[in-house]
Amino acid sequence: MNLVLMGLPGAGKGTQAERIVAKYSIPHISTGDMFRAAMKEGTELGLKAKSFMDAGQLVPDEVTIGIVRERLSKSDCSKGFLLDGFPRTVAQAEALEEMLADLNKKIDYVINIDVDQSILMERLTGRRICKKCGATYHLVFNPPAVEGICDRCGGELYQRADDNEETVQNRLDVNIQQTQPLLSFYEERGYLRNINGQQDINVVFQDIEELLGGLK
Ligand SMILES: [Zn+2]
Repeated sequence: MNLVLMGLPGAGKGTQAERIVAKYSIPHISTGDMFRAAMKEGTELGLKAKSFMDAGQLVPDEVTIGIVRERLSKSDCSKGFLLDGFPRTVAQAEALEEMLADLNKKIDYVINIDVDQSILMERLTGRRICKKCGATYHLVFNPPAVEGICDRCGGELYQRADDNEETVQNRLDVNIQQTQPLLSFYEERGYLRNINGQQDINVVFQDIEELLGGLK
C-alpha cells in the first residue's frame, strides 16, 4: 500500500492521514518529520539539509530526494507508506518514480482530497481568537454562542492577520499553482484518485477505505 496524499490547506489532509496510518499500520512520512529525523540521526544528508536550513535557504532537490530515498528504504516501509508533503514538484515526482523502481516498489494511489476553493476559504478564514484569554473558535466548526464574544470570559474575539482573506487567498494561489502540474502528472499515469473532501470527515474516510479496500 504505497500512497501519496495530496490536498490544499484546509482540505483535511492531516486528519485523514492520521486515520489512514492508524487503520492500515503504515508509516506516515511527512517531509518535516523526515528532515527532523535525518538531522537528529546525523546522517550525511541530514547534516547537509541542516546546513541549508540554518542558512535560511531552501533544501535543494537532490538532498530532499536523497532523504526520501533513505526513509523509503527502511524496513517499516516494506508493507507500504503514506507520503505527505512530497513530492511537491513534477521533478520530484519523477525522481520518486525512479527511486521506487530501484527499490522494486511502485505507487498504488495518489489520493487527492478535493475541496472547492470557496469552502477552503470559509474554513481557513473562520478562526477567531479571544483577546483576553486566547480561547479559539471557528465560525463554522466551533462558533461562540454570541457572535464576536468569548463564551468563557466575555472577551472580544478577533481574527489573526494570517487568517484574513487576502493572506489565505495568496496561500491558496501558491499551493494551487504548485500542485496543478503534479495532479496532471499523476492523472496521466493513472494514479490519481480524487476524494470528495466536502463531506463529513467520517464519510471522507469511508471513501478512502473503499478505495484502499480494493488493494488487497
Ligand atoms: Zn475569552
